[in-house]
Amino acid sequence: MGLDFDEVAVTGLTKSYGATLALAGIDLRFASGSTTAILGANGSGKSTLLWLLALLSRPTRGNIRYGEYGMDDAAELRGAIGFVAHQLQLYPGLSGLENLELSSELYGVADAPRRIEALEQALGLAEYWTRPLRTYSRGQAQRIAIARALLHSPRLLLMDEPSTGLDEGSTDVLADLLAQQREAGAITVMVSHEVGFAERVADRVIRMERGRIRGDQP
Ligand code: ADP
Ligand code: MG
Repeated sequence: MGLDFDEVAVTGLTKSYGATLALAGIDLRFASGSTTAILGANGSGKSTLLWLLALLSRPTRGNIRYGEYGMDDAAELRGAIGFVAHQLQLYPGLSGLENLELSSELYGVADAPRRIEALEQALGLAEYWTRPLRTYSRGQAQRIAIARALLHSPRLLLMDEPSTGLDEGSTDVLADLLAQQREAGAITVMVSHEVGFAERVADRVIRMERGRIRGDQP
């Protein structure tokens, strides 16, 4: 793990894409050991918020603090962040195993073989483990993306609709993994369209509407 922190604080966060105001000045705090679900209609700014939190895009205005660190520490902070994006960003020509091995090297995961093995077991990846990723179903690729996000035990775990394509059994496994992350002190922020799943795994639900926070409750 790179730099560490126990809180993420967002102030006045604004993001425009040309004439489109995707985030209209958001203030939020996320504490260690919390799981937040973000709900909202299409286009309300949920994915934009995750991309900014992941330091993959810069805000138009406003700030994000990661404990004592800031957006200028992006390169060092990335080692403490895991992200399941909507577009999974895995290598299609590599197998699931190879994708995880490559990511382990990039992240410098200590004891990578044991960690990969544990995730393979937990997520039931074995049956398609060595085939190229392009042959996977959406749910199978989704499980690899979830494993990749958890590989380095990130402090900040960001997931954009993580239950997409997952069957009931895999959704239960995901819920268990999220509970383990919370117990380990992770800060989890996930976007979900499934209110039932969000309410089951989250201890806080935020509703977004047109780039603003419309509801925030435990
Ligand atoms: P959500 O994830 O809630 O569906 P997004 O954050 O993806 O919403 O998008 C918020 C708004 O920003 C939408 O109007 C969307 O069309 C726009 N948007 C998102 N990404 C881009 C982009 N790269 N270029 C232009 N507009 C974008
Ligand atoms: Mg989205």
